Amino acid sequence: HTPARYHLSDKEMMRTIYQPRDPFAHKGTYGHALLIAGSYGKMGAAILSAKACLHAGVGLLSCHVPQSGYQIMQISEPCAMCITDEGTDYNTHFHSSIDASSYKTIGIGPGLGTQPVTARSMELLLEAFPRPMVIDADALNLLSVYPYLLYKIPAGSILTPHPKEFERLFGATTNDVERLELLSKQAVKLQIYILLKGRYTAIACPDGAVYFNNTGNPGMATGGSGDVLTGILTGLLAQDYAPKAAVLLGTWLHGFAGDLAAAHLSQEAMTASDIISYLGKAFQ
Ligand code: AMP
Ligand code: MG
Repeated sequence: HTPARYHLSDKEMMRTIYQPRDPFAHKGTYGHALLIAGSYGKMGAAILSAKACLHAGVGLLSCHVPQSGYQIMQISEPCAMCITDEGTDYNTHFHSSIDASSYKTIGIGPGLGTQPVTARSMELLLEAFPRPMVIDADALNLLSVYPYLLYKIPAGSILTPHPKEFERLFGATTNDVERLELLSKQAVKLQIYILLKGRYTAIACPDGAVYFNNTGNPGMATGGSGDVLTGILTGLLAQDYAPKAAVLLGTWLHGFAGDLAAAHLSQEAMTASDIISYLGKAFQ
């Protein structure tokens, strides 16, 4: 493995990545995304991801939710469609075989739970889906319990671990430099994008390059912030942004929306929902 090359992502870069919408566009233009998220007691994670995906510009969104979360999702987010899981166990999500062919991309993980049957359903999904997807939270925790699943992830997919999830996935390191080299090495090995989230989120690309994102603030150190990022990334992939463009733009927008929220509301008072509220200003 050659040493990682390090870059800083900035606003100028975002201006070159951002694609204005086509005046003749219709909802089919911007992709149909599937979000697999939420479980009993954690429907909030699914709702935050769904709202963020919609506010990131997705054409159509379907949410795969447990039966216990069906009405919660339908009432919370009228802009999303809903599919209920086949599993009847109140606490399990998900337990279904999904016909994924009609979706442009998939976001999986926020609030999902880590039942063994979920790992099996995820394995079938990874085997069936040929395009880049976004994998976060409990879906990452399942990958660390069943590491052979890592090799079934479609090339160009995006993994978004926070430092604890990263350690569970790829092991502990003794210092930050070592961890960054491990990050880059795994992105090359698996041919995927891996975001190591934090104050300066490090984005490792399949070619070994690492980009640092400098937007964001400690007001985002609050439950649900990561679920919002998953929704944004899923929404950008659905709109046909290439994975690298989606990752750089999505991470930057997420942090910048957080900075705008903090400027207006304070770091203390802002919540993950407020990051979504300021996403529009961040795009502008
Ligand atoms: P999660 O731990 O999955 O909820 O993800 C937290 C999200 O908030 C990540 O995107 C982090 O980069 C962001 N975040 C949390 N704390 C900070 C911080 N102190 N500075 C900048 N971003 C942060
Ligand atoms: Mg998270």
